[in-house]
This record gives sequence, structure tokens and C-alpha cells, in this order.
Amino acid sequence: MIKTVRGVHDILPEEMTTWHYLEATARRVFSGYGYRELRTPIFEKSELFARAVGATSDIVEKEMYSFADRGGDSLSLRPEGTASVVRAFINNSMHRLLPWRVFYMGPMFRYERPQKGRQRQFHQIGCELFGPEGPLADAELMAMVMRFFAEAGVAGNLTLEINSLGCPVCRDPYRVQLLAFLTAEQERLCGNCQNRMARNPLRVLDCKKEPCGEVAQRAPHMRDHLCPVCADHFSGLTAHLDRLGLSYQINPRMVRGLDYYNRTAFEVTTDALGSQNAVAAGGRYDGLVAEIGGQSTPAIGFAMGLERLVLLLEEGRVVDPVATVYLVMVGEEAQGVGLSLAERLRSAGLSVETNLAEGSMKAQMKRAGRSKAPITAIVADREVTEKTVVFKQMADGTQHTVALEGAVDHVRSLLQTLS
Ligand code: ATP
Ligand code: MG
Repeated sequence: MIKTVRGVHDILPEEMTTWHYLEATARRVFSGYGYRELRTPIFEKSELFARAVGATSDIVEKEMYSFADRGGDSLSLRPEGTASVVRAFINNSMHRLLPWRVFYMGPMFRYERPQKGRQRQFHQIGCELFGPEGPLADAELMAMVMRFFAEAGVAGNLTLEINSLGCPVCRDPYRVQLLAFLTAEQERLCGNCQNRMARNPLRVLDCKKEPCGEVAQRAPHMRDHLCPVCADHFSGLTAHLDRLGLSYQINPRMVRGLDYYNRTAFEVTTDALGSQNAVAAGGRYDGLVAEIGGQSTPAIGFAMGLERLVLLLEEGRVVDPVATVYLVMVGEEAQGVGLSLAERLRSAGLSVETNLAEGSMKAQMKRAGRSKAPITAIVADREVTEKTVVFKQMADGTQHTVALEGAVDHVRSLLQTLS
């Protein structure tokens, strides 16, 4: 038997209701802020991710699905969405149309250790905003993220965590200071952090291992070393959030796993998912467009993980019926009459699930019950002779015999009384 690749899942039709609901909520909320959908390819030149996400990031070093195509080019399945959006921004000369607001949704691929809420193929919905440089944009983006969660109605308590990662002016001297501190504490750190410390000292701050956490508590924090421009940006952001009445927590240890962020970084975490607690994450990446070869353009964005949101919505999930009407047809003649009745109902915009495997009245009625359709239509010998159809309301069992020509009107009025 052939199974799926490890860490990769089918999304079954009965789960799809929740997925469609989340996607529809995202489309509605984001378009309320002027964002429009962008679809980029699932795979890109590997070099794009090496340059955007960072050659020393965990994602590029350890998690990418890269392969040589038949022409010998190195391609990668996208591990995240921002790099492609930036490439599309540059390729299509969108700097002429600032501000540019886009959202995307789709699968991402990372070779990670699979666990609950962590897959190798997972899905993100993300937004990117190009153009505005000030903290007003950051605050509006966060308001949009939090509105999305409020409208989606996810379970558990959410926390908006914010931090500033500074800019090259203040981050470079801070790194030197941090590295000096970490070098003195070296033997307390986990093996991974000892190895990457010199290349990427900031990463040590958000290492989830215990000894590193303790060291990170005492380490110097970026926020205490911001240059005046970055400090102003951060206080402007908190002032806007306060005015909006959005509650937040400053988390000085949040550094984010992608190299392209500067100044504002944020995460939305939940208390309902154990260790896979980040449901959305993002930040400013003012240097990235220039890094990829475009005209320098400030930008900010975020992405959220759909699998984790589905887990948060799963409780109390109602499985929608496949159709409004389940059609029972007993006997060969009844099948002929029934099939055209079903077509007429569908032409009127009603959904009909037909019983396609014969069977006794009793067996078919059982299937009708299992289908959860609110109405069952029954055509058997007597209905064929009399040119009628029986409609049964499944909730209370009431039945009506109706002339075939009146079938559409009858179902419509039944639905009206049901709603
Ligand atoms: P984490 O710290 O959980 O690994 P991350 O910082 O790597 O998250 P981002 O790259 O910022 O995550 O992606 C944004 C969101 O996408 C995350 O907050 C999470 O909800 C989701 N996500 C990331 N990786 C996975 C994965 N392997 N499986 C499922 N969801 C994921
Ligand atoms: Mg990760």
C-alpha cells in the first residue's frame, strides 16, 4: 500500500467546510482593508529563498525541498510566501503603484519534525504591504490580523506579542555586544546554539531549549539598544496600538526565524495548542526588495498557519450536509422520473444528492438519514402512477405528497419554514 509522504496530509471533504470558512473570512476581512489576492508559483529558483530568507536560516540550511530540474537549475518548493511576493513585486514593476497591498493563500513546504500543528506540507494565508514606512502601517496591519481572529471566532486566548529588531545602524553594534555576552556564557548553551552563535547570535534568544532560555533572560536585548529612529518607530507603534485599544505584550526575546525582518516583529500566540503556539507571525522587511534587486521599498507583512487555526476551530465543528434534498427512488420507473426531478430541482438552484445504488425503501431511507439532508424526496411506484413526489422533513418527520410540477415551489417553501 502506498501512503502519503511523512508529515503530509489529505484534507478530507468533511474537514473542507472549516478550510473554506477560514479562507472566506480572510478574503472578506483583508479586502475590507484594500488587500487583493496574488497567486505566485509553488516553486522558485532556490537562490530566491537563499537571498530572501537567509542562507544561514534554519529554513534554508535544513528545511528546504530543493532539487535539480531536468535542465540542471536548482529549484525549491516554497518554504514561505514573502520571498515570492517580493519577486513578483519587482518583476511586475509594482513600485509604480504604491502602496501595494496583497494577500496569498496556499501550501508551503518545510522538512521539519512532524507533530501536532507541524507538518512538512502546511498552508498559510499571508498579507504583504509595500510602500508605507511609518508605524501607522504596522498598527493597521496588526489591527487587521486581530480582526481576522475575532471574526473567525477561534477558541482559546490570543496574545499579540511585539518587539523591535532594530535596523542595520543599531543591530550591528548590538550583535557585537550580544556575541561577547554569549561567548562568556558559551558552555551553558545547547550544542546547536554553540554552533550557530557566531554566525547568528540573535537566534540564541528564541531557542526553545531550557539552558538557552535562562541565558537569554539575562542577555542584553535589542530593544534597549535601538537607535533614535528605531526607538521612535517602536514608540509610535505602541501609541497607535493603545489608541486602537489593541492589547499587546512586548516580548524582548522574539527575534523571528527569517533573516529579512527589521524594526517591527510580531507574533500572535494561543494558549490552546501546547508548544505549537504561534498562529500568526510577521514583521517589517524594509531592506528585502533592494536585497532581491528591486528599487528600495519599505514593506511589512505576516503569515498565519491554517492547520493550527483548523485545530482551534475543530471543537464544536458542524459537519454540513452534502445537499439540501436526498432523493430516494424505488423501482426502475421511479429512477427515470426521479432523475429528471433532481435535474429540475438543481436548475432551480437547489442541491440534490441522489440515491444511486438501488435498494429497498427501508435501506434508502436509512441512507437519507445518514446524509443529514434536511429534506428527503421519495419516488416509488405509487408516485410514478400518480405523477407525484413525497417530501419528508427529516427534523420532525412530517410528510407531504405534492404534484410533480409543484415540486420546486414546495421545496422552496419548506426551506423558508426551516430557516
Ligand atoms: P514556529 O516557531 O512554530 O516554527 P515559524 O516562526 O517557523 O513558526 P513562520 O515562518 O513565521 O513560522 O510562519 C508563520 C506561521 O505559519 C506560524 O506562526 C505557524 O502558524 C505556521 N507554520 C510555520 N511552520 C509550520 C509547519 N511546519 N506546520 C504548520 N504550520 C506552520
Ligand atoms: Mg519554524
